[in-house]
Amino acid sequence: MPQARARKSDSHRCPECGAGFEVTYFDDRTGERALLPMTIARAACPACGHSRSVSLPAGAERTVQVELSEGIEADEGGGG
Ligand SMILES: [Zn+2]
Repeated sequence: MPQARARKSDSHRCPECGAGFEVTYFDDRTGERALLPMTIARAACPACGHSRSVSLPAGAERTVQVELSEGIEADEGGGG
């Protein structure tokens, strides 16, 4: 069977600590499953753990991964 899994990602920003993070998931809706409505899942902020609701394709909530977005301001001491 062909596997047409598309990895998708949505950018979110934590309302608690302001950290940006990416919610990635596999959208494997095929055939009649593509007609299923979106579902609401919980994604926890990787920085502070505050969970927020995100809308995902039905079934995708089982493949969700949350990662901090790149490009976060990080103070690197030293130099000079
Ligand atoms: Zn947070």
